[in-house]
Amino acid sequence: MSIPKLLPFLLTALAAAQDPGTTYRFRVRGLDPHQAHELEARYDILHSANRDGSYDVCVAPEDKDEFLRAVPQAVLVDRGRPYAQIVAEQQGPLAPDANYFTVAEVLQKMDQLAGLYPGLARRVDLATIPGAAKTHNGQSLWALKVSDAVANDEDEPAILIVGQHHARELNAPYMVIQAMERLLSGYASDPTLKSVVDGCELWFVPTVNPDGVDHVWNVDSLWRKNRRNNGSSYGVDNNRNYATLWGLCGSSTTPSSETYRGPSAASEPETQTMAALVAHVRPEVYLDFHSYGQEVLRTYAPCATVNPTIAAFLQRYVDDLRAPMTYNNRAPSGSGEAPEDHWVRSGTLSFLIEVGTSFQPVFSVTQTEEARVWPGIRRALTAWRPAVRGHVRSVSGLAPLAATITFAPGLFSHGEQTVARARDGRFGLWLPLGTWQVTFTAAGHQPYTKTVTVSAYDTPQTLEVDLEPIWSAAALAKQGSDRVGTTTQLTYTSAGDGGEAYWVALSGGTTPGIPLNNRTIPLNLDGILIASATPGAVLANNVGILPASGQAVAAFAIPPIPALAGITLYAGGITLGPGYASQVKKFSPALAIQIQP
Ligand SMILES: [Zn+2]
Repeated sequence: MSIPKLLPFLLTALAAAQDPGTTYRFRVRGLDPHQAHELEARYDILHSANRDGSYDVCVAPEDKDEFLRAVPQAVLVDRGRPYAQIVAEQQGPLAPDANYFTVAEVLQKMDQLAGLYPGLARRVDLATIPGAAKTHNGQSLWALKVSDAVANDEDEPAILIVGQHHARELNAPYMVIQAMERLLSGYASDPTLKSVVDGCELWFVPTVNPDGVDHVWNVDSLWRKNRRNNGSSYGVDNNRNYATLWGLCGSSTTPSSETYRGPSAASEPETQTMAALVAHVRPEVYLDFHSYGQEVLRTYAPCATVNPTIAAFLQRYVDDLRAPMTYNNRAPSGSGEAPEDHWVRSGTLSFLIEVGTSFQPVFSVTQTEEARVWPGIRRALTAWRPAVRGHVRSVSGLAPLAATITFAPGLFSHGEQTVARARDGRFGLWLPLGTWQVTFTAAGHQPYTKTVTVSAYDTPQTLEVDLEPIWSAAALAKQGSDRVGTTTQLTYTSAGDGGEAYWVALSGGTTPGIPLNNRTIPLNLDGILIASATPGAVLANNVGILPASGQAVAAFAIPPIPALAGITLYAGGITLGPGYASQVKKFSPALAIQIQP
């Protein structure tokens, strides 16, 4: 290597002299499952055993001595050094190569795609999302948003595909990058992919951990964590830092550890930003690429409490995802991982996929792996649909509500919920097969519960929900004998609604009623109702503006026709206005008028 080429590495080596050095990779033989589990709390055991049954373990330099005391048979097989140096030194067909993406190259790739498909792709600075943060080294996380009319926030379901929470997993972001490339290049020729792009908002975040990736290229090819300065060590494991079940299992309290969970739940800018993105777009599906192991991880950590019905439901999708990839499956290594967090707190169907059989194989191997993985991604994008889709709005003002959606019988132990998207109230609710009582809740509103029966997967039902604010209910009262030839007075009370329009209506029945999304006015849309829409035709004083008292009195002069005796009519009061869902603010229960002889 020439002197100018060596200089950056020399400088790095000098800097590392004040540093504890780079990551060790040990190989351990004769590890029983119990020992492996004990070690897992502190060290990053690379999950798929090697062909000879040994395990590889990455160990921070600060932890090396303690590790060797615990596992004296461990053999050093590798040591991290600048990935750029590895690339520069090793040439030839089997060398690791420079086709893996640096942070800058990921951004260039996004710009290239946004330039080629300006109507379909745009790069988004995730630091601009409420609740997001820049990394410890001041970098933004970036997404490529892909959709038709990509410049607009459309009323479409969102899908989120991310990679590289762990820096050294250089093959993982390639799955994300190629997925966006395939969708965009296939848009013109593949009607199935076109319908995904047209009907969804897809968000791709190839690199969740740019600070760590910089460190991989410049210092330590085996670096895993972010670059928080812990004082005497660096880094938090981003995929042990999410808020849900944070610190419960499979993570470390030791800052130098490969699986350090961080000082507090969601303490890290990377996890804050990804949680903010999930809260912002409320994706229906989340896929998260790591390496390695050729396996799809089930959503819940081993320490979570999972009802068998939910476990079977999630397994159905794990199997659907891994089948086209011919991958295995296993439980996640610990809690505080991203998929569990997004599922529990947002209701997003979320899975982590470990690709390949090493972190940085020869690039052609990663290309082959990508071709194996893509059919699984394609399956998730084109076939997966939640049981129910719809919107939640307020009856008052039609404002979208970021409603919380839960269902009974209760199957959850960790506060799992689905949340509607704030900007348009859109939700996608995943439910197992069966019959469920689904409840929508939003601040300042009365909850609403609806029975939903799910008899097939991936065939969404539509449920539009208007939640009524907490306000005093409308009521109708009557005075009179209801005899033919007499007048019955109908007093409609809609407290607090002086100045709003009202209508007291008559109908021949109460079922099925008049549906307004989830609300039902208990009067039928029949000839009597239509006639009573003409002021004075059937009732007197039945249409007008409510006075300040919110009370109006309509009159029903029952014609002096003896044949009317025995007929039952139903009266109801309605408060109307242009600012309400279906122009209906409130309505009273129906009041029966049984005409007497
Ligand atoms: Zn990983």
